[in-house]
Amino acid sequence: MDRDRIRTIEELEKRTHLTPSEKRELSSIIAHHPMAVTEYYANLIDWDDPDDPLRKMAIPSIEEHELEGSFDTSGEQDNTKYRGLQHKYAQTGLVLMTNSCWLHCRYCFRKRLVGVSVDEIVHDWSEILQYLRRHTEITNVLLSGGDPLTLPTSRIVDSLEKLADIPHLNFVRIGTRAPVVHPSRITEDEELVKFMRQYSSKKKRLYIITHFNHPREITPQSSDAVNRLTDSRMAVINQTVLLRGINDDPAVLAELQSGISKIGVAPYYIFQCRPVRRVKSGFQVPLREACKIIEETRSMLDGIAKRFRFVMSHETGKIEILGSRGTRVYFRYHQSKDQTRVNEVFLRKLDQDTGWIDP
Ligand code: SF4
Repeated sequence: MDRDRIRTIEELEKRTHLTPSEKRELSSIIAHHPMAVTEYYANLIDWDDPDDPLRKMAIPSIEEHELEGSFDTSGEQDNTKYRGLQHKYAQTGLVLMTNSCWLHCRYCFRKRLVGVSVDEIVHDWSEILQYLRRHTEITNVLLSGGDPLTLPTSRIVDSLEKLADIPHLNFVRIGTRAPVVHPSRITEDEELVKFMRQYSSKKKRLYIITHFNHPREITPQSSDAVNRLTDSRMAVINQTVLLRGINDDPAVLAELQSGISKIGVAPYYIFQCRPVRRVKSGFQVPLREACKIIEETRSMLDGIAKRFRFVMSHETGKIEILGSRGTRVYFRYHQSKDQTRVNEVFLRKLDQDTGWIDP
């Protein structure tokens, strides 16, 4: 796998010119947060354009030296019940299967662990399964990480089988960026797709949560990967992160949402970029500006393409960002750690640079 990915400055130099000072800067960044770019995704990048949006998502920049923000903006540590298992919202169990991803997105909110640490990754399924069986309010499990599809097929099969006979689970979600950054993981693994088809038809319905951020990521290969999944009785739904310089233009965001709808991917969430350390300065759009972008995007879309909710995954819950009028921004708790707050609407007066709200 690693043979085909760009992971070092030397490999990067085969694609683009770097000055000695850029090489020094990038080396020091990837010493903290490793780089990984698949061959497939590298071929989508316009290497002649330093501001290419796909390049920005995949290749480190000096803004990653900025340490403002936190590595755990959603309170994941507090929600951890056992190593590898988080339980934040009553109905959902979240299992971190791996700290590997096909491509290390530079804006990742789990930057603290992707390619860095295995401390939060599942190592003992037995205690996790006991917890899931005990908590009958949990209706679904989200397998995440990292990207579970970086694991060998046998490990994925084994993990899904463990969940198959928990009666109160209605469905299982798998969070993966493979259709977008490494579609051959799906199109070339007959065994995996065949197993998932049977599992989704006979055991638990599988939802694939994928992650398209830019219309140029919609290619014949990514469409093929999506088709393999949807033809195999899986629903494919998409989460986008609103990112400065990538998709913060309503025309681009609208093209993305209608493009994914066209290939059979359901728009699900657009996330406000979290104030993650080494991410915030380079990628976050302030909330008032973000509201305008989303409003304008919606105005260009049909009903299917605008099914997404614009949300922030906050330490207190998943908060829908409803819109803004002047300095006022309106919010509603879509999910909350405190069940009594679900559906609560509130407003905050924010200045134009604010990108996140206090608890
Ligand atoms: S695929 Fe997801 S978890 Fe992996 S680096 Fe990208 S954003 Fe982070």
